[in-house]
Amino acid sequence: MDATVKATPEIAWNYRHLFVNRGAYTLQSPRPRPENGRHYYFRPKAKGTGAALSLTGPTIRCHLEGEITIGLYAINPATQRSKWVAIDADYAGAMEDLLKLQYSLQQDKVEAALEMSKRGGHLWIFMERPALACECRIYICNLALELGVRIKGIGLAEGIEIFPRHDELRAGEFGNAIRGPLGIHRGANRRYWFYGADYDLGKQIGYLNRLRKLSEQQLRSFIAGKTMPLEFETKWHSPGRAAPFVPGSGCEFRILDHVGKVRKVGRNYVTRCPSCAGAGQDRSGDNLAISIENPRKYICWAGCTKEMIRQAVGCPIPGRQSP
Ligand SMILES: [Zn+2]
Repeated sequence: MDATVKATPEIAWNYRHLFVNRGAYTLQSPRPRPENGRHYYFRPKAKGTGAALSLTGPTIRCHLEGEITIGLYAINPATQRSKWVAIDADYAGAMEDLLKLQYSLQQDKVEAALEMSKRGGHLWIFMERPALACECRIYICNLALELGVRIKGIGLAEGIEIFPRHDELRAGEFGNAIRGPLGIHRGANRRYWFYGADYDLGKQIGYLNRLRKLSEQQLRSFIAGKTMPLEFETKWHSPGRAAPFVPGSGCEFRILDHVGKVRKVGRNYVTRCPSCAGAGQDRSGDNLAISIENPRKYICWAGCTKEMIRQAVGCPIPGRQSP
């Protein structure tokens, strides 16, 4: 581990200016889970009081110096805006897709920075001023669609993931966090850099600061007349009218009978997605939303399909078992 890396308060200040959208953050566990060797992220709490910790300059310095590893949220809930869009790709052929996106963004005069990751990479676009999460998403979803780059989500297990992952947050929601760049990935036990500059904190931050930032006016000109592509709009899993008859079951499937403790967030119940949980994901227990008004409707924000969720709770949809 490069223990020699030193982060000055100035570097930490610049880092906050570039990346931090809100005080809340996550921390990657230094110890892997014995059952699967994964390092989970959790929201750190103050010892004694249990109050959620807020990101400080010294915490950012510890992250940059490799002592801890933080995760950053994409949306400021007070404004529904983000300072950046990050495109995460970690499948076979991920780098090709990211380079395709980066090249196409360049044609729009948008300079995107490519960061290495464990498999594949993260492509970062910075805003001149924080932009509405929903507008950022409309831009990147449409661009990916035009380029034939797959987006992970409903029905697609592989593809890019776009942060912000939500169009907006409701009261009390945090959305999804992404590993803070330039720290040490606990699982890989190494630091990942941006390709655009020497492997030195000061030079990396200097490079990011010099990148041309996307203005709201430009963003709006790119998405003029566009909406979220239909296939990426929220699709609730519900039996609906086309629900297959389940022979011999006698009663219909009710997701609420198969999940743990739920909490009410806006018009939904929120809980840990059983399918994500099976893969050791969704530690914050907020990926699955179940409509309060109609509990037959549910959705996993991480993109698990109805088939995956039904399989995970031991009630596979007849004839539609996933392998
Ligand atoms: Zn899920």
